[in-house]
Amino acid sequence: KKGRSYLIGGNWKCNGTAESLQTLMKEFDNRGPIPKNVEVAICAPDLYIPLVKKSLRSDIAVGAQNCGVNESQGAYTGEISADQLLDVGVEWVIIGHSERREGFGMVGEDELLCAKKLKVALDKGLKVMFCIGEKKEEREAGITMDVCAKQLAPAADLLNEKDWANMSIAYEPVWAIGTGLTATPEMAQETHASIREWVKEHVSADVANAIRIQYGGSMKGSNAKDLLAQPDIDGGLIGGASLKADFFNIIHGVP
Ligand code: PEP
Repeated sequence: KKGRSYLIGGNWKCNGTAESLQTLMKEFDNRGPIPKNVEVAICAPDLYIPLVKKSLRSDIAVGAQNCGVNESQGAYTGEISADQLLDVGVEWVIIGHSERREGFGMVGEDELLCAKKLKVALDKGLKVMFCIGEKKEEREAGITMDVCAKQLAPAADLLNEKDWANMSIAYEPVWAIGTGLTATPEMAQETHASIREWVKEHVSADVANAIRIQYGGSMKGSNAKDLLAQPDIDGGLIGGASLKADFFNIIHGVP
C-alpha cells in the first residue's frame, strides 16, 4: 500500500459503564500482540477517558469522539476543548461522524463547522479521523462522490498542506453504520480510490499517497479481511464490533 501503515479506530460512541468498559479492556489484554504495521486507537466517551488511559493496554492510543470548535477554555457550556483532551492524554479525535452531522433529530454539524473543528484540533496537536460518507438515497442517486467532495472541500480550504499528515479520512457510508449492511470490498475500494483522487487534485499528490483512508460501516472480524486487502483501504473505523473482543479479529485481519 505504498508505504502506508494501517489505522484501526474503535468508536465506543455513548456506550458503556465504568464496570463494563473495564471488563472489555481486560478482554483486550488477552488478545495477543498488535501487528507492527497497525496503529490502533479507541475513541471513548469523554467521561471515561481517564479510566481508559489507566486501564487500556498501552499499545492502543486513546481518542475522543468530538471536540469543541472553541480554541480556548471559557464560556462554552457543555463543550470540551482540544486543549482539555490533550491535557488528559488524548491523542486522537473523531470529527464529523455522521451521527453528529445528523444531529440526533436536532441541529447537526454542517460541513463548515466540521472543517473548523478539524482545523482547531490539528492546530492544537490532536490527530484526527475525519468522517465523510453518503446516505442511502445519495448512493442510489449516484452522487456518492459529490457528497464526499462537499464534505472535504471546506477542510481543503482551511488546512495547510502539512496539516494533512496528522489526519485520516474515514469513509463511512451512512447506510452501513450500525445497520449490519457493509459496502462490498469492491464498492468501498471504488469510493476510496475516488476520494484519494480528489485529494490528489485538490491538495497534492504527496498528500494523496500518504493519507490513510479508513472504511467504516458494520465492519467486523468476519468481513474485515476482504475490505482491508483492498489497495486504497488503509484501516477501519469500527463502532459495534469495537465493544467486543471481535475488535481484535479485525486488527488481526490486516494483510
Ligand atoms: C461508526 O460508528 O463509525 C461505525 C462504523 O459503526 P458500526 O461499526 O457499528 O457500523
